[in-house]
Amino acid sequence: MVTNVMEAYISGAHSGPNPSPGLGTARSLRRAFPSIQLIAVDYSNRSSGIHYSDFDAQWIHRPWDELDLNAYVEQVQRILDSGAFWFSGLDLEALWLARTLGGHPNLFVPPPSALTQVAKPEIAAHSTLPMRIPPFINCTEPDWNLHAFCREYGWKVWLKGPYYEARRVRSWSSFQIEYEALASTWSTDRLFLQAHITGREESVAFCAHKGVLLNSVYMSKRDVTPEGKTWAGRISVTPVGITGPLAQLTESLHWCGGAELEFVRDQNDELWLIDWNPRFPAWIYGATIAGVNLPAALIQAITGQQPEQIVAMNQYFTRVVLEIPCKTPLPSLAEPTANTDLVGSKHPSGMPKLAKRLDTGTPSRKPLTADDAPPEILHELSNMDISRLETPHRVYFETTARARFDTLRHALADAQNSSVQVLGAYSIKTDPDPRLLSAARENGMLAEAISQYEVRTAISTGFELSEVILNGPGKWWPSPHEEVDRYYIVFADSVEELRRYSGLLKHRVGVRLRLPAVSSRFGIPVDTPESYHKLVLALRAFPQSTAIGLHFHLASSAFGTRQWWELYDSFLGWAVAIERSCGKRVSCIDIGGGWFPDDADTMLLPSLSDITSKAVQDLPGLDTILLEPGKALSQSTWGLITRLLEIRETDSEHRELIVDGAISDLPMSGLYPHRVLARNNRGQWRPLGRGPDRILGRLCMENDILADRVSLPTDICAGDLLVICDAGAYDRSMSYDFGHGGNGQRGS
Ligand SMILES: *Cc1c(COP(=O)(O)O)cnc(C)c1O
Repeated sequence: MVTNVMEAYISGAHSGPNPSPGLGTARSLRRAFPSIQLIAVDYSNRSSGIHYSDFDAQWIHRPWDELDLNAYVEQVQRILDSGAFWFSGLDLEALWLARTLGGHPNLFVPPPSALTQVAKPEIAAHSTLPMRIPPFINCTEPDWNLHAFCREYGWKVWLKGPYYEARRVRSWSSFQIEYEALASTWSTDRLFLQAHITGREESVAFCAHKGVLLNSVYMSKRDVTPEGKTWAGRISVTPVGITGPLAQLTESLHWCGGAELEFVRDQNDELWLIDWNPRFPAWIYGATIAGVNLPAALIQAITGQQPEQIVAMNQYFTRVVLEIPCKTPLPSLAEPTANTDLVGSKHPSGMPKLAKRLDTGTPSRKPLTADDAPPEILHELSNMDISRLETPHRVYFETTARARFDTLRHALADAQNSSVQVLGAYSIKTDPDPRLLSAARENGMLAEAISQYEVRTAISTGFELSEVILNGPGKWWPSPHEEVDRYYIVFADSVEELRRYSGLLKHRVGVRLRLPAVSSRFGIPVDTPESYHKLVLALRAFPQSTAIGLHFHLASSAFGTRQWWELYDSFLGWAVAIERSCGKRVSCIDIGGGWFPDDADTMLLPSLSDITSKAVQDLPGLDTILLEPGKALSQSTWGLITRLLEIRETDSEHRELIVDGAISDLPMSGLYPHRVLARNNRGQWRPLGRGPDRILGRLCMENDILADRVSLPTDICAGDLLVICDAGAYDRSMSYDFGHGGNGQRGS
């Protein structure tokens, strides 16, 4: 110590709903060493904590994008050399200091190598802790894979960057929006998607000096802000199961300074590590209240100076909102309409600006991995003469269609056993193209219709009424119901409808169930005793010999493929209950459609035997299992050929392509990624990788964006053709006539 008065510089003083740890660190040090000089360091006068009374002085710098970093680092060095301490409360400042002044005895930041070991999403250092990392996927992977990840976890996923912030992603379009926002705020495309873990949020805060773990506390959140930040918590002793491996880790990482491990405890008591922050948490004064002063322990480790004895006041802490006098005048608020410095007020310490300067992850504007081009589609395209086609033009991929129906037929045949037949019913509404309907019939499928128009289409393709399943809330529209008993099965969508069939349906009566805990407007609910009782009474009104068919349909593409299996289990449970309550045999179950083609191939079809054996075990009277695939068969059987009208160089890095296709030809363009192929001048088709460019439609509509974040070949030029794949199913059936001046044409 050069001076007699101890001095500590504490950066990250913002104290708002999403606070930095500076204030808690200062308060903890003040309690331990009443005469210590505390200097608040920050990079904006909007950091509210700089005005707090425990700070003796403030040192406010120009924003990070204006700071002369070389001069600044020299200043910090002189401060440290004078004997003052530096507590960094800002992750990126800690990273910068670790790289420039790391190892200085008065600087509380871990070495750069340790920071690499605790970087998200892998948090490599976690391996010896009793914690796991939630499943994640890096956003440098093709969109196709990112979408598959989101489906697997039922769109309960977070988009995260390497430093701060996590944003919930609930749909493909929200992913696109959040991705842009996060990538541009943090100047990085090192983003990743991570599965949400349901459970309680807990933390361990600790401090270590020269690799020696000095102390730690365990904190479980008792209240959180809408952003999920701690508002109240309970402090307890860290279990030895954690402190043991942690002490070894701090030693091997040569950890220096404070840190926080953030994790979720799930219902099986498993811990999932979300974050390892290289600084104290903002609630650190909560630990001091409970008698464990971690910031003081660091100073004591260096100086040997004994902190004031503190008595544990309470295990529990909460935050309050306080008005305090400001030490300097505040700038006026930006114009409410200007909407300018939103990032600035959200991150007053300017971390996004520092991220840009540290250049730790400049968005790579070079093409990333391309989606695999579907080989059978490449093959089909190379055999087509499309150069003279009027565009946009939808092409039917015959071989692809045949392959999809073949795969399904084989899977259904394999799942069959001696007592149960497994049948597919093609969902007409998904894509009523006669070629697909014929393919369905030729492959031994039934047809699933939701209106009398669809029934007519099925009949005109050669289906018998006895090969048609009738479903939905308006299945008789526009005719009165007749010949009810001649259909393969009719699934009533409400108790009212079910009652109308008593006396009309004799061999089999179908009911669509609305399962508990899922939100759907369809089917008969079973979640209250009243609704269940109504259903049972309505079913009992049918003759004893009438068998029951039960149906549920929830799109796993939106709901999650994992979740779907739980629903199937729950569905079987209700089927057993209904069979017992009615005293009638359940002879048929229908598990609906809603499968994304890849999920059907990799999850549904390979599990059909399991699905069958499970059902037979629970429902011994079962003789039929139905599936109602729609998009699983038709989505990839069409492509949209579109011609390049113009290339716009938005700036040196971004290009925009205007094509003659439009969102009216591809209404699902924002709902799932479409693979895009471009033709070069030798007539070869190449898949587009991920990149900085966009493909925009011909319409005067802001949302007419056909593909975002793609990489266009450099030699592409006006007049070239693109094929947007995966343009069947609802892209075809829901396409609409728009911008043709009333000369109706739907690009089909
Ligand atoms: C729409 C629908 C289907 C087909 O759904 P896809 O998502 O195209 O697979 C199957 N069954 C019912 C009851 C439907 O409403």
